[in-house]
Amino acid sequence: MRIVVLAGGIGGARFLRGLKQAAPDADVTVIGNTGDDIHLFGLKVCPDLDTVMYTLGGGINEEQGWGRADETFHLKEELAAYGVGPEWFGLGDRDFATHIVRTQMLSAGYPLSAVTEALCDRWKPGVRLIPMSDDRVETHVAVEVDGERKAIHFQEYWVRLRASVDAHAVVPVGADQAKPAPGVLEAIAEADVVIFPPSNPVVSVGTILAVPGIREAIADAGVPVVGLSPIVGDAPVRGMADKVLAAVGVESTAAAVAEHYGSGLLDGWLVDTVDASAVERVAAAGIQCRAVPLMMTDLDATTEMARQALTLAEEVRDA
Ligand code: GDP
Ligand code: CA
Repeated sequence: MRIVVLAGGIGGARFLRGLKQAAPDADVTVIGNTGDDIHLFGLKVCPDLDTVMYTLGGGINEEQGWGRADETFHLKEELAAYGVGPEWFGLGDRDFATHIVRTQMLSAGYPLSAVTEALCDRWKPGVRLIPMSDDRVETHVAVEVDGERKAIHFQEYWVRLRASVDAHAVVPVGADQAKPAPGVLEAIAEADVVIFPPSNPVVSVGTILAVPGIREAIADAGVPVVGLSPIVGDAPVRGMADKVLAAVGVESTAAAVAEHYGSGLLDGWLVDTVDASAVERVAAAGIQCRAVPLMMTDLDATTEMARQALTLAEEVRDA
């Protein structure tokens, strides 16, 4: 079975661990979000790709969900001693090595997809990880600070401001000119099922879908497309997804997110059991819906979620 997953960072990566366990023989291709990428200290940092790579490769800081395990921060301290920031973005010493290797390869002319493959040679995530595009796409958020409206980098909004101010708009700058990375459209065309994990619908999955050709390829693939809600009990399980959903006019509920993707894209949707009352509304929107436990508390629970997603895909196929 060939499975394609559109993944952001933590939500996507944790789900993928369960999927690998639920379908050990499947051939899984992960299309990773690169809209969160940022240049820091002259280095190219790809937080979502690295979260997937470290999580599946056994190098993740488990409690935090991002960054390396057994991390130290000497380099950051030394940079701060020179007055060189930003101090609000946590890059550890081990993590820095990844960004140095990546930047060196990019400077030598390799595209991001080839660099990601090279980094994965070390981590062996057990999936094929492809960035959504080799072209630069950077998510910016329009905010109002001291009465002045301005656009800031997504990481500045998310990490420095902790989404404490309202987002007026979310723009994946460069997406309209970006091309899907080599292998992305091919993987979708050859897939037996496409899964939207419980990743952020706006700044993770939404950004990937903003690359021209990807949304169309998924809609036209003629295979089940199923998703899992990152919203449980009318709030994101983790993080501030409600802020960016509000920016695109979508309420923070499992049903509204399904409608936002729409039946033109999505065939099946899983909501948590606490949102069982949403099933009818999602079904009325033309999307098959089931309520099952959706909390990734441990690997067993996450594996069961992945199984449910694959079962729903079969039901969609048979319908
Ligand atoms: P990010 O790039 O690190 O923000 O990660 P993603 O975009 O892949 O996923 C973020 C989303 O994961 C958030 O909106 C969370 O609500 C969702 N999430 C995190 N843990 C869980 C969980 O246990 N269950 C569900 N259903 N969603 C989760
Ligand atoms: Ca992210």
